[in-house]
Amino acid sequence: MKINENFLKIESSYLFSNIAKRVREYTAANPERAKNIIRLGIGDVTLPLAPACIEAMHKAVDEMSKAETFRGYPPEYGYDFLLNAINDNDYKARGIDFDISEIFVSDGAKSDTGNIGDIFSLDNRVAICDPVYPVYVDTNVMSGRSGDKVDGKWSNIYYMPCLAENDFLPEIPDEKVDIIYLCFPNNPTGMAITKDYLKKWVDYANANKAVILYDSAYEAFVTEDNVPRSIYEIEGAKTCAIEFRSFSKTAGFTGVRCGYTVVPHDLQFDGVELNKFWARRQATKFNGVSYITQRAAEAVYSDEGKKQIKEILAYYQNNAKIIYDGLASCGFKVYGAKNSPYVWLKTPDGMGSWEFFDLLLNELQVVGTPGEGFGPAGEGYFRLTAFGSTENTQKAVERIKNYFSK
Ligand code: PLP
Repeated sequence: MKINENFLKIESSYLFSNIAKRVREYTAANPERAKNIIRLGIGDVTLPLAPACIEAMHKAVDEMSKAETFRGYPPEYGYDFLLNAINDNDYKARGIDFDISEIFVSDGAKSDTGNIGDIFSLDNRVAICDPVYPVYVDTNVMSGRSGDKVDGKWSNIYYMPCLAENDFLPEIPDEKVDIIYLCFPNNPTGMAITKDYLKKWVDYANANKAVILYDSAYEAFVTEDNVPRSIYEIEGAKTCAIEFRSFSKTAGFTGVRCGYTVVPHDLQFDGVELNKFWARRQATKFNGVSYITQRAAEAVYSDEGKKQIKEILAYYQNNAKIIYDGLASCGFKVYGAKNSPYVWLKTPDGMGSWEFFDLLLNELQVVGTPGEGFGPAGEGYFRLTAFGSTENTQKAVERIKNYFSK
């Protein structure tokens, strides 16, 4: 028996476990001060589900209690009622035409962005933004596509640094890459891509026979007209892109678990439809999302659901503005927030991002996320999230302002 040695290459502690460990240690050493800790670190929502979703779940639970309406295994790719709701609201309403066989309901974007590598050869060059949502890199390491770590970087991964100097947008590669991970609005930088710039990526991918894996988990936060919510708003995307969507941030489903992935029939390489590969992969390794969850997701698209979710999103958007404006007012260089629940800031005085983490925790009892945890180019940056309560967000920003205005 041989183990998968690729796992030996990955650092054992995941970023958020590392943060939790530091907070635990601080709490043990400073139990009184730790009572004031405000967490603006992890990207998890805090408001309850929209009432329309709760109502739909209750109804679905009742259906499960009667033999006539009980449901067993769900269809692997999703119930038609949810596939149609997604198709009508997220695509048809924006002039994008899909058949529901191009949409795959799942338990979330983490699984899908992590699992999609199954359908690609290990012999592909992968391009990944730096900093980045860690799942893209780690899953490529696990499968053996990353090469070895040399000076903090994986040898077979093409890194695309996203820094203040380039508006946190990845530059089009000057060499051939095969699989391109893009995530907009971005986690962790909170920055969005314009339709014009995304068109350049679509053109590159089509010209170079590359595939774009487009993570659109934060599309619900888009406020600006020139920012796409879906890559398929861009002409030519159907022949080069897979899109990942999630109800987690859109509708507070982080604990309910539901998302979906679009693999267009037009997406073909060597005469093969990737849609067929993903369908086969899902049917074999995934057994579908519960009926109760899918009814809740369907309710996101009801009139009531849409109204309620808009209010929830507005609450987080307001928090993002409080953080952005507050930090900007005391001299921080801040980014993101406009189309995103994340504020990305440059650490002051050239401080390291873990050093800044410790300062905020020890002096102000505020927990954020060190940029370095998202990749080498995140060093010197820090992420704060808008998912806390407004009261706590205001308190945390006041503490930071008082400390740094001195
Ligand atoms: N993609 C990005 C960029 C994320 O930041 C997250 C969660 O933080 C996810 C995907 C995970 O989404 P889900 O909850 O649907 O698995």
